[in-house]
Amino acid sequence: MDFKISIPTDSMGFYTLECPHCKGRFKAQAGDIEAEDTLELFCPSCGLVGESSRYLPSDLIEHAQTIALNYMQQEMFNSLKKTSRKMKGSPISFRVEKPKEEAPKLLTEDEDLEQVELHCCNKTIKINMDQKFSNVYCPYCGVN
Ligand SMILES: [Zn+2]
Ligand SMILES: [Zn+2]
Repeated sequence: MDFKISIPTDSMGFYTLECPHCKGRFKAQAGDIEAEDTLELFCPSCGLVGESSRYLPSDLIEHAQTIALNYMQQEMFNSLKKTSRKMKGSPISFRVEKPKEEAPKLLTEDEDLEQVELHCCNKTIKINMDQKFSNVYCPYCGVN
């Protein structure tokens, strides 16, 4: 099954990331995270490094799973429908009911995030200033 789930971004093309170490959330530009040379990210609040794929927030993974599940149920429904059509006129009949789609969890926009310019790498991220960290680490090079 070739099935791609696109990560929802906010109106400015940022998407939410969650640090696997401290669970701190921040936002980065989709193009920067998906760049081929971005294999690891530094958490802007605790400064620890991790593979960029580990920064996907848990609600995003849930969201993706719901979409995949809906897709699979839909596929199953379609093939059952074909089978039941073929059996028309035969003494066997069964009804196929359309599966209920589970609404994917809506990803909340964290609007209390502030935009921070990183002059070391010439990138912009968004972080929650209430987390009262005195230093912001650059997710791309780890400088603070
Ligand atoms: Zn962290
Ligand atoms: Zn940097």
